Amino acid sequence: MKLSDSVQYVKGVGPKMKEKLGRLGIHTVEDLISFYPRRYQDWTKITKMEDLRPDEEAVIYGEVADIRKIMPRRGMTILNVLLTDGTSAVTLVYFNQPWKEEQFRRGMHVLAYGKIEYNYGKLQLSNPEIEFVSPEELLTFQKLVPIYPLTEGIRIQQMRNMISFALDHVEDLVENLPEETLASQHLMGRLDAAKAIHNPVSWEQQKEARRRTAFEELFFMQAGILLLRKKRRSHVMGIKCAPSGQLVRSVLHQFPFTLTEGQKQAFTDIENDMEGLVPMQRLIQGDVGSGKTAVAALALAKVVENGYQGALMAPTEVLAGQHYRTFQEFYKGLPIHVAYLSGQTKTKERNEILKGLKEGDIDVLIGTHALIEEDVVFAHLGLVITDEQHRFGVKQRKALETKGGYPHILVMTATPIPRTMALSIYGDLDVSSIRGMPPGRHPVKTYAIGSPLLQRVFNFMGREMTAGHQVYVVCPLVEQSEKQDLASAVSVYEELKTRIFPMFHVGLVHGRMKNDDKEQVMRDFHDGKLNLLVATSVIEVGVNVPNATIMFVYGADRFGLSQLHQLRGRVGRGSAQSYCILYSDNRNEVTQLRMKLMCEIQDGFLLSEKDLLLRGSGEFFGYHQHGMPDLKAADIVKDLPLLEDARREAGKAVDRGMDFKEELSHRFGGAFFKKLYKE
Ligand code: ADP
Ligand code: MG
Repeated sequence: MKLSDSVQYVKGVGPKMKEKLGRLGIHTVEDLISFYPRRYQDWTKITKMEDLRPDEEAVIYGEVADIRKIMPRRGMTILNVLLTDGTSAVTLVYFNQPWKEEQFRRGMHVLAYGKIEYNYGKLQLSNPEIEFVSPEELLTFQKLVPIYPLTEGIRIQQMRNMISFALDHVEDLVENLPEETLASQHLMGRLDAAKAIHNPVSWEQQKEARRRTAFEELFFMQAGILLLRKKRRSHVMGIKCAPSGQLVRSVLHQFPFTLTEGQKQAFTDIENDMEGLVPMQRLIQGDVGSGKTAVAALALAKVVENGYQGALMAPTEVLAGQHYRTFQEFYKGLPIHVAYLSGQTKTKERNEILKGLKEGDIDVLIGTHALIEEDVVFAHLGLVITDEQHRFGVKQRKALETKGGYPHILVMTATPIPRTMALSIYGDLDVSSIRGMPPGRHPVKTYAIGSPLLQRVFNFMGREMTAGHQVYVVCPLVEQSEKQDLASAVSVYEELKTRIFPMFHVGLVHGRMKNDDKEQVMRDFHDGKLNLLVATSVIEVGVNVPNATIMFVYGADRFGLSQLHQLRGRVGRGSAQSYCILYSDNRNEVTQLRMKLMCEIQDGFLLSEKDLLLRGSGEFFGYHQHGMPDLKAADIVKDLPLLEDARREAGKAVDRGMDFKEELSHRFGGAFFKKLYKE
């Protein structure tokens, strides 16, 4: 039997079972074998009967003291088997299984597993799973029974039998990891691991089997990524830039600050990439406020200095517009012609910009999704930057990248994740992390509050505004309904403006406003003409108003940790102490935990790690979007150290010239494979 054979060759699989298995995603022998247990019943720990507690699953061991069959009414039988272990007694109860009576005899020893119930003052187990094990056998009897995530009316025993049959008969479940890797990582063999994961004799063995299986998945995932990268490096010629010169230095001098170590390192990485033969493909991840924009400005100046054009795409009008203004400052008086393009740009102006781009008069184009439209054509695009890349799909990013030959590519994100994880999901991107903040930032004091404290918080906001500071109020995110978002923002706005803060200037900004109006409101807030700004999450990314000291979030439970952290990053940008106030009356445990983490942790990297652990890797954004294979045993979040080992080992194997062609084409399939081996 082969891994790729249909499950119908497995004993016990008829047409009906085949269909049921299909609904669990099991079509081949391999699918069946890699249908891993969700957990194990632990028969290894026997609880003394006197220590049993109701509602807990437990294993007990005792001697049959009494057997009694009751027929409370016609057609119904109840079999009671009394077990004792010298400390107490438990009744095993079987309903309507009269034949079970045959199995038991007084004095026999029974191992039973089930959920303990408490019935009329007595402990009992209903329909327990049992094994007949003598006291001598018990010494060597150790069993972890696999439990599968079943539905579709497949009994657990059937599943176990089918899997055992497949494991006994499969011929090509042969070793696929390199010898060197097995040795250096002390890994179990492939077949042994498959057997042990379905039928471990001990927890140690189960752990080792799972480690091997997870490692294998991660290893081939990493090998695929690394090979892809190697291929890119050997085939594609980039725009080789000269070492940074006068223009880059002028921009540096013009910054009203000196770069932090993190910024310097990130730009050094970029310079090295851009001066190399291979086009840059780099991800810059840095916490909100770590100063990614300045790094982007340097990279763009560098490409312009080399006679090419650059483009910067941001996810919202507000952010793109702000970048445009920032860049005008950064490049003031320098020979860099910056233009701005968005969906709102008037036709006449747009045509002029398109012409300027095509003729090469415009050096740097900043804007929104509007940049990827077909008629936006560059004379010689040399660098593409995507800001807040997690807000874009991969397709959108690629659409912009194809506007040049092989332009250098830089993506920036403020949703930092651990480096290895980033390497894994962003596939063939190199990663620079900007850790650390510009000097002089105070941590933002963060509080989670409920309605009883609301009035006090309003009073506090009033005092801050009187002192000349500004306040953001962000309204709940109502899922999938922009209309409701808007409604809640509008009513909050009305309430704050007319009833609570009639003496202050209150503004409103939301996603549905016309761009000019939105810009106007943002500018008024920026210029201090508004004391308080009510907003939907349009301000989530990138806005920079250093005088704002309070971020108040309504319905904080509706936001993820990363989003809350992003929002918090809107304040604490000036020298004054800032506050983030998370408002929610949701007492849900996970919500409470999230709020607690927000109050305690300021570091975005740490926070996103926690966030991932809370959400689990199931929702790991972008993982599948990037064409990565399914992981069945490994968990990219929880198995981070293993992922690091796997990556290192895969790197060594690839360096030794291994290409794992068959294994990878099988695992990655489709597009990813084509990219790697065709062309
Ligand atoms: P983000 O990384 O979130 O995009 P920004 O680039 O918007 O952050 O920078 C946040 C703020 O920090 C801006 O006001 C910017 O001018 C300022 N800034 C950036 N780099 C430095 C630095 N090295 N020293 C002081 N302030 C800086
Ligand atoms: Mg930014």
